[in-house]
This record gives sequence, structure tokens and C-alpha cells, in this order.
Amino acid sequence: MSENFEKTLVLIKPDAIQRSLVGDIIQRFERKGLKLLGLKMMSLDEAVLREHYAHLVDKPFFAGLAKFMKSTPVVAMCWEGVEAVAAVRLIAGITKAREADAGTIRGDFAMSVSCNVIHASDTTENAEIEVKRFFNSDEIYDYDKTEYLHIYADDER
Ligand code: UDP
Ligand code: MG
Repeated sequence: MSENFEKTLVLIKPDAIQRSLVGDIIQRFERKGLKLLGLKMMSLDEAVLREHYAHLVDKPFFAGLAKFMKSTPVVAMCWEGVEAVAAVRLIAGITKAREADAGTIRGDFAMSVSCNVIHASDTTENAEIEVKRFFNSDEIYDYDKTEYLHIYADDER
């Protein structure tokens, strides 16, 4: 397998759980040609949120963000593909959902800068850390996806 294959973490946030968007969101990633390596529902506690949003703990909105992220379980997913981290961020759209491009998940499904339906890892370094933060190694599945023959050219696989 080419070294350009990356794993990335996506969380489906509580607003999307409440609004029954889980299926629609997963479908976006499946249709893109990404490979699902891990999927589970989980409740996030303050400790994991302080770690996951370490760059935001000092912001005035952090308490509200943590309360929101704890308000329902989230769906955690690990997706894989060539340069998947950037590809998933592109599909996600920018943080402020009401300004996100139409066609992106945030652009199509959300209006808020906080309740923006998904989290997606922002760099390959963070993706590695975040996949490990939310998944044990035995929860990440290795299997052949025959569809890859049609999703990538020979020299990309
Ligand atoms: N967030 C917020 N208010 C802000 C900025 C961010 O509530 O002014 C929340 C929002 O849910 C966002 C998350 O904090 O998705 C993480 O922020 P980041 O800047 O890392 O954006 P992302 O990587 O999610 O686009
Ligand atoms: Mg971020």
C-alpha cells in the first residue's frame, strides 16, 4: 500500500445526533471512496475534551463547547484513504458552518460556529494522535476493500 494512505478521525457531534444526520454524514464519506476502519458510539468526558480541544481550553466558549460535546454520545469514526486528512477536511467545510461552501457537510447541514455537525482531524500529525485518542488498536480493522481497484489508479494504491 502506498505511503500516502492516511487514517483520520471524524466525530459526529451531538447536534447531528439530535438532528438524525448520522446516516447522511456517513454516506458522504462512503461515496467519496474513503474506507471505514473503525466506528463506535461513545460519551466524552471533561478530561478527553480538555485533551482533544487543548488549543481552545482558555477560550471563553470552551465551557459551552464542552457542555455541548457532552450533551449526547458522539459517533467516532476512523476513515482511510490517500491523503485522507486533507480530503476529509475539504468535505467537512470550514468551522463557521453558515459560511462553509455548499456541498460540504457543514455547508449543507449546519449554520453554527459551534454546532457544526462534525469534527475532522486537521493535520496528519494530529490525525495520528486523535485516532489513538478515540480508538484502541483492536478497534481499527484491517481488510481489503475491493472497491479500491476502481477508486485509485494503479500507481496511487
Ligand atoms: N468552536 C466554537 N466557537 C468558536 C470556535 C470553535 O464553539 O469560536 C468549536 C466548534 O465546535 C469547532 C471546535 O470548537 O468545531 C474546534 O475548533 P477548531 O478551531 O479546531 O475548528 P475545527 O477544526 O473543528 O474546524
Ligand atoms: Mg480543529
